[in-house]
Amino acid sequence: MKQKHFPIWQEGDIMPAFPQLKENIKTEVTVVGGGITGITTAYLLAKKGVKVVLIDRGKLTNATTGHTTAKITAQHGIIYHEFMSHFSHEEAALYYESQSEALKSIRNIIQENQIECHFEEQDAILLTNNDKNRRKLEQEFEAYTALNIDGEELTQLPVAFPMKYAIKMKNQAQFHPISYLKSLVDEIIENGGEIYENTSAYDIENADHRIVRTKDQHSIICDQVVIATQFPFFEGEAFYSARMYPSRSYAVAFTSKNPYPGGMYLDVDEPVHSLRTLKLDGEEYWIFGGQNHKTGQYKHDVAPLQKLKEFASKHLKLTDWQYEWSAQDYTTLDKLPYIGRLNKNRPEILVATGYRKWGMTNSMVAAKVLTDLILNKENPYIDLYRPTRFHADPDLKQFISTNTNVAKELVSGKLMQDKHTPKEIPAGSAIKTKQHGQTIGIYKDHEGKVHALDTTCTHLGCEVTWNDEEKTWDCPCHGSRFACDGKVIEGPALEDLKKVEYRK
Ligand SMILES: Cc1cc2nc3c(=O)[nH]c(=O)nc-3n(C[C@H](O)[C@H](O)[C@H](O)COP(=O)(O)OP(=O)(O)OC[C@H]3O[C@@H](n4cnc5c(N)ncnc54)[C@H](O)[C@@H]3O)c2cc1C
Repeated sequence: MKQKHFPIWQEGDIMPAFPQLKENIKTEVTVVGGGITGITTAYLLAKKGVKVVLIDRGKLTNATTGHTTAKITAQHGIIYHEFMSHFSHEEAALYYESQSEALKSIRNIIQENQIECHFEEQDAILLTNNDKNRRKLEQEFEAYTALNIDGEELTQLPVAFPMKYAIKMKNQAQFHPISYLKSLVDEIIENGGEIYENTSAYDIENADHRIVRTKDQHSIICDQVVIATQFPFFEGEAFYSARMYPSRSYAVAFTSKNPYPGGMYLDVDEPVHSLRTLKLDGEEYWIFGGQNHKTGQYKHDVAPLQKLKEFASKHLKLTDWQYEWSAQDYTTLDKLPYIGRLNKNRPEILVATGYRKWGMTNSMVAAKVLTDLILNKENPYIDLYRPTRFHADPDLKQFISTNTNVAKELVSGKLMQDKHTPKEIPAGSAIKTKQHGQTIGIYKDHEGKVHALDTTCTHLGCEVTWNDEEKTWDCPCHGSRFACDGKVIEGPALEDLKKVEYRK
């Protein structure tokens, strides 16, 4: 089969299309962002009789949600021991409880609506092949015991990952995220909601009402706004730029000589590897991912997809490499998502972000917390996820490290003195060079035409860097990404990179 450069979830064009907003409208709640967070929140609100408008700057589920690996689990890497040490037993327990309830809520929605979305219960397994991480996993298992998490220690696995030790969290799940979300989208419409695609939110005015301004100069007047854009497009002095960092991962779907033995796996050694399965149209696919790196810090000598292929060929008996894709997610200072009111001065603007690549359950936690806040109902998790929280440790340490990195990325590149010419670049690739004192990026397309851009990110002015795997310009500070011709693809930037004239 010919290799496809898109996620397996996009096979068959499941999600319906929606019109662009072309007039000014009024509603009760505007939800900005049509990924799993925005759709689930709009669904819960519409079911409660709230008049809701959902907008997305592209197509629904085309961003990170459409590029996920869709394990639905409360096993979020090695986290419970850390939460117990940094916060408290109660807060770690609350985190586990909220995530487990989220899994149950997803299961209930699927059952109630009889959604065919390949939902399957599976155990989730963390594994390591090195002694340092073995100690960490043993401590994590001690945390499972302390928190009454149903788990098990393992020294053997049915898949051929090199491993010394593993821990299992029982009765977790996996699904096809787009088939699931399509059904929620149908319900939003059925319950009177409105959905607009290709409608980019640009700003929010905060007076008697909220007014969401779109890039095409239309307005949505409403009482409350939910920002579900992954990185918040509107920060409102809440400084998300200084409190989160983006990281990319790569994923593939292949067939194997071996039958899939069950289970969802995460190898915690560097580079991390993730594995699950999906049966689609009679074929058993192994969905395999990893090779994480901070966005904008792509290393040209690594070639992440090639590395995944080598690992799968060696250990997982790969036969046919069929789909490949990549995506990014954000991590907060203390590793807990930010879910709740944007800040004290703007209580009618709500936000959910920073899922650290665990958005299937976190989006459900967010949708429930935000719906309860909007409806003035109590919710036991509001304080835990409050976006304005601050812990001296670990937030301060991570704040310094995140912002030192941002400061470095702001100036690096601007100081470079190298001069290059398009002759040095292979077709389909790019390089940075100096032109009259300005740093520019030059991309050479397959016809040999040169596209020159100002490499200053249009979000907050950091230097973008070239990602040769995906042929994009990526910003290492806040994760804005631009196509080789400078068009915004994702992240907080709202404007394209500026084109410049290349002078030979
Ligand atoms: C490779 C990878 C694998 C993953 N695997 C798992 C997994 O197995 N299990 C798990 O739990 N989690 C996983 N995750 C994490 C999970 O996929 C994400 O946390 C989740 O999809 C985020 O959903 P979201 O709705 O918040 O954001 P998104 O899906 O990114 O949606 C945000 C939407 O907002 C829109 N938008 C942005 N700006 C604007 C604007 N200004 N105006 C209008 N719309 C705007 C975008 O177009 C986009 O559609 C993975 C993440 C990655 C990167």
